[in-house]
Amino acid sequence: MRVLITGAAGFLGSHLSDRFLVEGHQVIGMDNLITGNTDNIAHLAGNQNFHFIRYDVTNYIYIEGDVDAVLHFASPASPIDYLMYPIQTLKVGALGTHNALGVAKAKGARFLLASTSEIYGDPLVHPQTEDYAGNVDTIGPRGVYDEAKRFAEAITMAYQRTHGVDTRIVRIFNTYGPRMRLDDGRVVPNFIGQALRHEPLTVYGDGSQTRSFCFVSDLVEGIYRLLMSGYDQPVNIGNPSEMSILEFAHMVNETTHNPAGIVYKEDLRIKGDPQTRRPDITRARQILGWEPGVDLKTGLQRTIDYFEDRM
Ligand code: UDP
Repeated sequence: MRVLITGAAGFLGSHLSDRFLVEGHQVIGMDNLITGNTDNIAHLAGNQNFHFIRYDVTNYIYIEGDVDAVLHFASPASPIDYLMYPIQTLKVGALGTHNALGVAKAKGARFLLASTSEIYGDPLVHPQTEDYAGNVDTIGPRGVYDEAKRFAEAITMAYQRTHGVDTRIVRIFNTYGPRMRLDDGRVVPNFIGQALRHEPLTVYGDGSQTRSFCFVSDLVEGIYRLLMSGYDQPVNIGNPSEMSILEFAHMVNETTHNPAGIVYKEDLRIKGDPQTRRPDITRARQILGWEPGVDLKTGLQRTIDYFEDRM
């Protein structure tokens, strides 16, 4: 296959590029590098099957030759990033998705949208199943990301129904691993960075809010299976093992032998911080035969090793 991956220099886009190349496909990677970084794809320089184009996909996308699949992963994705780039976030979710769908339609390619657990907002249903419609504050701080992704899902389904484009939607829950940016503001790099500098970990609020963390290789496996499947409805991919942020902080401190403890902080983003989040992955299990295999202890150690090398 010849595959277009938008956001290819990002955390997930770069791991996906690696996976498609390993499977023998050709990858065209696109990224405007506002939150992505070419360091993530530096190891692919000189690879005949990888072609990188620095480009902002909110503009009309022209690709020469055949394309068999389009994977739309371009977007700021951490709360700090989408608060810094609110308009770009809305544009890449709306205009970028429209353009990426346009490529898929013109080339007769399959299309896969990177959606998110954020479309469930601060959920009133727990764990979250794909048929839950969500609880999103449109004008809250997270609204720019949540609504962009909700629009992206809507236009993806419209292209499927109206133009017959063969589409897939993955709803990605918190994912971590090597190639996250140390300064992207998310809890995993924040805590690991602080721990490795022997600083107290900044727990926002009282730390009772929950998340469930999926290691990146598990996520990539789920996405690959979804693309290859015949299933055109949204699928949650994430790790259902849930913990509070406070428990997670203790785990990071124990693993890194950080003596500095924790400090409670008011998060400026706190309004709208989802209080619980855990994917119901019944659909992924049944349809893709997928479930995560890397436990948090193992994945965390690999991520710590990665950041340690870079600090
Ligand atoms: N969080 C925290 N300390 C930090 C960074 C994040 O306590 O230094 C909390 C944050 O309030 C949220 C959770 O960790 O409840 C996950 O935040 P993250 O930014 O990783 O992503 P989110 O899941 O909110 O999109």
